Amino acid sequence: MEKMPSGTVTPLMAQYRRIKAQYSTEVLFFRLGDFYEMFDGDAVEVSRLLNLTLTRRGESPMCGIPYHASRVYIARLLRLGKKIAICEQISLPENGKGLAERKVVEVITPGTALEEEYLEQNTNNFLAALCFAEDTESSIYYGNHKRTLKKQTVSFAYIDISTGTFCATHWNCADTEEELPKELGRVMPRELLVSRSFAETEKNAAVFNRFPSVYINIEDDWRFDAESAYKQLLRQFGTLNLQSFALTAASPEIFAAGSLLRYVLRTSAFCRSDGVLPQVTGISVYADTDYVVLDHSSRKNLEITENLRDGTMRYSLLETVQHTQTAMGTRLLRSFFAHPLCVVQDIKRRQNHVGLFVKDGQTLRSVRTVLSRILDIERLTSRIALEKAHAKDLQALRTGLENWLTIRNLCEKFAPGEFSDALYVFETDTALKIIDIIRSSLLDEPSVSLNEGGIIKDGWSQELDRYRRLQTDFTRILDDYLEEEKQRTGIPNLKIRFNRNIGYYIEVTKGKLDAVPEHFILRRALVNGDRYTSVRLQELERELTGAGEKIIEIEKALFLEIRAKLAEHIRYLLTVASEIAYIDVIASFAYAAGLHNWTCPDIEEGNVFEITGGRHPVVEMHLPSGEFVPNDAFLCGQNFALVTGPNMAGKSTYLRQNALIVFLAQTGSWVPAEKARIGTVDRIFCRVGASDNLARGESTFLVEMSETALILRAATERSLVIMDEVGRGTSTEDGLSIAWAVCEYLLNTLQARTFFATHYHELTRILHKKLQLLCLDVQERSGEIVFTKKIRSGASENSYGLHVARLAGIPHTIIERAQVILDGLQKKTTWTESSLPVFPPSEPPVCDTDKNPQHAQNAQKESRVQTFQNPGLFSDEELILDEILSSEPDAMTPLEALQLIARWKKNLSGKT
Ligand code: ADP
Repeated sequence: MEKMPSGTVTPLMAQYRRIKAQYSTEVLFFRLGDFYEMFDGDAVEVSRLLNLTLTRRGESPMCGIPYHASRVYIARLLRLGKKIAICEQISLPENGKGLAERKVVEVITPGTALEEEYLEQNTNNFLAALCFAEDTESSIYYGNHKRTLKKQTVSFAYIDISTGTFCATHWNCADTEEELPKELGRVMPRELLVSRSFAETEKNAAVFNRFPSVYINIEDDWRFDAESAYKQLLRQFGTLNLQSFALTAASPEIFAAGSLLRYVLRTSAFCRSDGVLPQVTGISVYADTDYVVLDHSSRKNLEITENLRDGTMRYSLLETVQHTQTAMGTRLLRSFFAHPLCVVQDIKRRQNHVGLFVKDGQTLRSVRTVLSRILDIERLTSRIALEKAHAKDLQALRTGLENWLTIRNLCEKFAPGEFSDALYVFETDTALKIIDIIRSSLLDEPSVSLNEGGIIKDGWSQELDRYRRLQTDFTRILDDYLEEEKQRTGIPNLKIRFNRNIGYYIEVTKGKLDAVPEHFILRRALVNGDRYTSVRLQELERELTGAGEKIIEIEKALFLEIRAKLAEHIRYLLTVASEIAYIDVIASFAYAAGLHNWTCPDIEEGNVFEITGGRHPVVEMHLPSGEFVPNDAFLCGQNFALVTGPNMAGKSTYLRQNALIVFLAQTGSWVPAEKARIGTVDRIFCRVGASDNLARGESTFLVEMSETALILRAATERSLVIMDEVGRGTSTEDGLSIAWAVCEYLLNTLQARTFFATHYHELTRILHKKLQLLCLDVQERSGEIVFTKKIRSGASENSYGLHVARLAGIPHTIIERAQVILDGLQKKTTWTESSLPVFPPSEPPVCDTDKNPQHAQNAQKESRVQTFQNPGLFSDEELILDEILSSEPDAMTPLEALQLIARWKKNLSGKT
């Protein structure tokens, strides 16, 4: 290498820096011979991330990786959320002097990666986009006055270019705090494209911090221009408008969706000249009302797809049902978990399909075995569409299609119509045609390289066969030719030999030189005889050496032709893939139902909630068989269950199991219960513990309160609310007051089906016709405390905290001292009845099906308690003031308003 004075930049480094300046946010892989080199900041960072040796080139830090092993390193960098720009040598300098021309040929980002090594098999590789949609204006007339309302919305879209999945939605700006974490938590994109103005909003930036695994890619606002976005979508789908996708040019979804496509086409190497992604055949626009909504923390708290401890799938709900056999099925199952259904009919349809397999174990076994032989047809199809598939991919596709046809046959035994609505593609001719093409054209074990031959079968192309024959038959052809010449010249010992220097030649011995014919051309005269060639021999030789190259060339052309032919069926193949995925998920549900002894829940409209013998699917799975204690849950009439019980009694488990049963039921799965009747819910909220949020630097209590606030704002009468120990993060009095007020609000205003666990015993004195008291049973047997894990009506009498402390190993002396302090405290605390808040007089609860007479009976008993025997935490003035502030006069009839005032007066005058 040339020596340069210190401080002088070599031409190579100047070239590097020129290119790097255009790719400042990417790691630049700079091709130098057989290596990709990184310099300066990139080198320092990458050497640290990948544990590579950091060296120097002149003044610059440098590290490198061998070209042939680059994929492994790229995959690791992508996983760490890096973008990589691949800069290749385009042409070498003439005479080996000067600089090679270099150019960035590809930018690989976490969300646009396509190679198998860069993708997780069982999860979608989503790239998402997020920006403000321009103000949408609507006019409202007040008499003759027109008022223009401006409503700002947020546009959100996501795509998986390895499978073709493409979805979009929008929400009001005001709801971003709630919607953004919910959507990110559900979709979990690898990469998120965000418009600068959106990213720079402080609150949004805070949300992004909660998703460290999402690579945030900030782009200038002009990149999200609506007109170009709309045009891009039209080009993508080849349509005049987007009506068939429920979109117009004014739809807010356009901004993110179109910009997303433009970004993919701008960055990826597989960008086609027509500017479309052939594997993306449509876009689905969705709204909150289409699926059961779970905000991000509820999803996390319920440990739906990952546990709270280490974020893996172990001990999650998903683990209990994930028995899928294909990568496509596993991804679809995740999608089912991201989108539990709301419409009863849709849920029942899935349940029926699961039922068919549950009833017919033999078919289930066979179908699962066949499924296990199917590779990822969805991603294979994308690879075909993007002209990346090799011959082995096509063979894998063929095997997949053949096995799919076998599954079709196996499912045919179900009565007509029973399963046919799950089989979306009704014709199999195209599959047969594709199978036939691949089977008759490609070798069973073809080469994955296009430049080595070994791809196409004999008999597919006459031209190829001729060259192959030429190659294999060359000795025979030479023998024939030699025989011909022997006859013609009359020289019986004529020989054809080969030598590296002169190639093939005809050898004539000394004694026979007179008989050499005119068409022999002398190559070399030797002592024992002369060496000749002939026009025919030269021709044969040329054909032989050319044949090898020609074979490779023809095989490549033929393969590309076959792949292009298959690319005409992208849409068909993707539908087959989705059908296989669906059958796989259904079979997985059926398998889980059999394995864990689950039942099919009755799903209906309305607010029914009756679970007999419910179990927590995850806890049960990890306990020895038969050890889990099943529990009932009936929210009929009394839709608010206040659950008490000491620590470790099983409250959290009970609360969560009820939410998980509902969740599973609405995905179409069967559920861990003896019997379940469930009215569909629109949202599931789960406020459980907040310790996991401490790492974010927010106080437990603040997090607890923001999550509670979200529930109070967003829950509806059709929601399911799970609240565990609300108010625990502050002083007892604050906590109790908040818990109390939240209970009231849930009971009186929201009226959502609720399970509310608390250790504030005082709350059990709330009397309300919609409230039922439940507790986890504790038995004292010969001085020992036994947690039976059984739910029963009523309130728990003791918190048994000292008992739990003893179990946890707190020294005996400390326990004894604590007992003395506790006795003292209990003597001091006397509550006066007169100062208690008063609810409307409680009526005996009505249970619509009287499924649980014991609950009803106990609740009646409870309801006979006339007033709250609770602390004087609230003065009547405070309560009334609070009621005034939270009342909604607009929503009241005049009579209701009068009654309210009369009640206030009565309460206040009763006091004076
Ligand atoms: P709490 O919320 O009342 O403190 P948890 O729900 O955390 O109690 O349960 C305490 C322990 O008891 C956990 O280890 C859990 O696995 C186990 N457990 C809870 N409910 C049951 C049940 N119904 N059957 C068997 N074990 C249970």
